[in-house]
Amino acid sequence: VTAAPTLVLVEHTAAGATPLSMEALTFARTIGGPVHALVVGSHPSTVLDQLAEQGVEAVHHPDDPRLGQFAAAAWARVAVQAASASGADAVLAAGSPRGFEVMAHAGAMLDAPVAANCTQVRTGQPWTATRQIMGGSVLEELTLSGPPHLLTVASHAVVVEPADAPTQPEVRPFTAALRDDDLAAQLVAVEGDAAGGVDLAGAKVVVGGGRGVGGADSFGELIELADQLGGVLGVSRVVTSQGWRPHHEQVGQTGTKIAPDLYVACGISGAIQHMAGCQSAKTILAINTDADAPMVTRADYAVIGDLHAVLPAINAELRRRRGQAG
Ligand SMILES: Cc1cc2nc3c(=O)[nH]c(=O)nc-3n(C[C@H](O)[C@H](O)[C@H](O)COP(=O)(O)OP(=O)(O)OC[C@H]3O[C@@H](n4cnc5c(N)ncnc54)[C@H](O)[C@@H]3O)c2cc1C
Repeated sequence: VTAAPTLVLVEHTAAGATPLSMEALTFARTIGGPVHALVVGSHPSTVLDQLAEQGVEAVHHPDDPRLGQFAAAAWARVAVQAASASGADAVLAAGSPRGFEVMAHAGAMLDAPVAANCTQVRTGQPWTATRQIMGGSVLEELTLSGPPHLLTVASHAVVVEPADAPTQPEVRPFTAALRDDDLAAQLVAVEGDAAGGVDLAGAKVVVGGGRGVGGADSFGELIELADQLGGVLGVSRVVTSQGWRPHHEQVGQTGTKIAPDLYVACGISGAIQHMAGCQSAKTILAINTDADAPMVTRADYAVIGDLHAVLPAINAELRRRRGQAG
């Protein structure tokens, strides 16, 4: 008996498949069946190379110009279509905002539950899974209903690995059977960093700012440090709820989960809901006036002091080393 495939929704940017989708593809191979991908919209050719490296056997590609821009319900519709055409046992998406949104629509269309943030899946009768809840601080065991079993993969719970042997994925175009309502909410424009900058979830360096930064106009030194290190800005919820910075920059349980090589946390106390988003950082440098702040006690390195004095000194030293300024 040929095992049923696992279908993975693969998000992509101009640079290729997103890091979280690559994690979902690596995760999909642990289920045991052949891995298929669903790629929506026009995509760079690097995506196919990445899918080959991940051992993907078939790529389902809906042929419809209306799918050029992201629309969660339309993407879910084609995911349901591709799952049914391929006889998929499971449909997976990354633990990303789009992954969650598309799978929620797919669940509604199939009248089926979605298990979010899975870290492990075991096939059998029924399938069971382990998933993160409460911002990753608690693991829950659950049984999954299906087929198809619908799930998202917990972000940064999987290390991306190439398949043992690369494949030559077969591209299977199909005609999207969209309903008018599926395009009722569609992305029309992207502004700000997300338009072309480094993605927070996949950034190698994140410079974080919290209440200690002091106000909307005081992020200049943090942004400069992020630029100098090739990283991005991330913030605490206090910062977004004050309206100092946009919500898409928030790190934490109700924001983005990050896993950078270096997280420079400036004026952030390290509340449990914030730590839920940065606990996968490989190295944390805390800059804080309070030596007892939880972020300082969790950090690998800490500078105890006013961030508005410490950051200009770090930036000046980095500029000096690059020979750009005195
Ligand atoms: C359901 C729920 C979900 C939540 N989700 C999130 C989430 O996703 N992300 C998140 O971040 N929070 C989240 N929170 C909020 C969280 O509990 C904290 O309130 C928040 O993280 C605190 O933000 P902060 O560290 O910036 O501020 P504070 O806790 O006020 O800390 C400010 C820090 O700055 C330091 N400081 C002050 N001035 C300076 C200075 N000049 N130089 C250096 N250091 C200075 C202080 O010593 C302090 O440590 C959530 C809360 C709830 C209830």
